[in-house]
Amino acid sequence: MKKIIPLFFISILPFSGFCQGENENNPDITSNEIKSHIKYLASDELKGRFTGSEECYTAAEYIQKEFSNYGLVPLFDDSYIQPFSFISGVELSGENYLEFNINNEKLILNISEEYVNASFSGNVNVESNLVFAGYGLSTPSLNYDDYENIDVKDKIVLVLRYNPEYDNPHSQFDEYSSFRQKTTVAREKGASGIIFVNGYYPKDDEDKLMDFKYDRASAVADIGAVHIKRNFADSLFKSQGLNLAEYQKIMSDSLRPASFVFKNVKVKMKTSVMEIQNTSWNVAGYLKGNDPELKDEYIVIGAHFDHLGMGEVGSLYRGDEPQIHNGADDNASGTTGVLELAEKFANEKDKLKRSIIFITFSGEELGLLGSAYFVENSPVPMATVSTMINMDMIGRLNEKDELIVYGAGTSSAWKDLLDSTNSYNFNLTFHDDGYGPSDHSSFYGKNIPVLFFFTGTHPDYHRPSDDTDKINTADEEKVIKYVYDIAFNIDTTVGKPDYVNVPRKDTGRATGWKVYVGTIPDYAANVEGLKLSGVNEGSPAQKGGLQGGDIMISFGNRKISNIYDYVYALKEHVPGDVVEVIVKRNDEEVKLQVELGAR
Ligand SMILES: [Zn+2]
Repeated sequence: MKKIIPLFFISILPFSGFCQGENENNPDITSNEIKSHIKYLASDELKGRFTGSEECYTAAEYIQKEFSNYGLVPLFDDSYIQPFSFISGVELSGENYLEFNINNEKLILNISEEYVNASFSGNVNVESNLVFAGYGLSTPSLNYDDYENIDVKDKIVLVLRYNPEYDNPHSQFDEYSSFRQKTTVAREKGASGIIFVNGYYPKDDEDKLMDFKYDRASAVADIGAVHIKRNFADSLFKSQGLNLAEYQKIMSDSLRPASFVFKNVKVKMKTSVMEIQNTSWNVAGYLKGNDPELKDEYIVIGAHFDHLGMGEVGSLYRGDEPQIHNGADDNASGTTGVLELAEKFANEKDKLKRSIIFITFSGEELGLLGSAYFVENSPVPMATVSTMINMDMIGRLNEKDELIVYGAGTSSAWKDLLDSTNSYNFNLTFHDDGYGPSDHSSFYGKNIPVLFFFTGTHPDYHRPSDDTDKINTADEEKVIKYVYDIAFNIDTTVGKPDYVNVPRKDTGRATGWKVYVGTIPDYAANVEGLKLSGVNEGSPAQKGGLQGGDIMISFGNRKISNIYDYVYALKEHVPGDVVEVIVKRNDEEVKLQVELGAR
């Protein structure tokens, strides 16, 4: 996006940026080759290698061609490419319709203007009475149940967004308050449809409807879910002689449910949302080991080659103009690591005792899709894989030479090996955990010892500015050589690395909000973002550099406009995640990294 290739250049070269410069391929790991691979993979021509895109396939072909040149054996029968299907999104299909009949007056709402479908809505065609079910919560453990004493079987319910403790950022209701969860509860109670509305509290003048955006989970089947504008809910309440704002205030102040059946209101709801199936690809080849006893043991060396495309998913870029997310560090750098290692090992394949699989995954940025598919559909049984080595973002070693290794506790052999092969004097940081936000996680889930190499995050992470010119190729060469030494050692030493089950820290994803940051919100502030009145002493927030007076505007992938955005953003993380936080401080934007704690 930033570099415009002059026309004359295109006319000379069949593929601009294609690695044609190195006529004789140097089997060694060289910074020249590293640069040339990254330059091509992260070129504008490949448009950010979005999973399932044409350009993603072009990248797969490039990798395949390299593997073939090095002499790797195709892993999937006679192919290097393993296609897998995934759901890339949802779309409205068929008929979507919402009609209210209030005191015999028929009102049809316009989709996208007056209401939207939830992206996770089931497909239904229903007609029934309308029941107001408060906040749609049924939480006996918190002694609160909007469904108490009310029958919603085969009825359509109208529920408010959020929860009665909307002004408490640490409300215990939060983990029950998502649209999805409320929809699931309504279905459990027998409702055939759920209609959401933004209440008057917390104050929300925009009355923004939920985004129709695939959230990477399947639909809540058998119940229709829509979100209507508040002014329409006002008229529904008015038809009952009630005022929505007052009603909500009383409900919340008393913390008592106040559900009721609407009199003389009928609703017709048709919802039709379809998942869009798409195909993407992993690319893999292998080298067979020579030791008769050990050749059926495999080491997997992998990296993902997909990235964010134009920023469709997961981008931290906040500009209005879509831009190519080139993903030089994330993860052309790791993909290049796989290529360079494949080339080097292929040149010395006679020395190998165990076999080595070289694999690049796509779908990583959408949730480890490619590696998750591979571990379930590998031509090589997972029980014969002794180690998985993953590289994701290895091109930006900092001045302090800090190299981060995850999975360091997943075999008792790792730490000694990592230290004893550290001839490049990296400042190594070990994290024991074998789970984490990249593809090694899929393998650790299969009880395979893993090592994940990472040079750390930076301000260009998941932004269009993650470009080739910021890659430190000389340092990346050292990192790859280090990984080579480790892999060679594992391949040729006598013992198979043992597997260690690292006790898993409580994960926020499974159990709700368990992440600790230590921010103290300023409830009095009326600003766009989350203003902090302070941070707790010794907390992750303080260590990350957050201060009282800061206005948080972004947390990880999430824009923060209010305390709720922050609460939901936290729910997406687990203790140990390093999250980029952007705050406004004296009218300047400051980027900070916060390593999340556990509560
Ligand atoms: Zn990555």
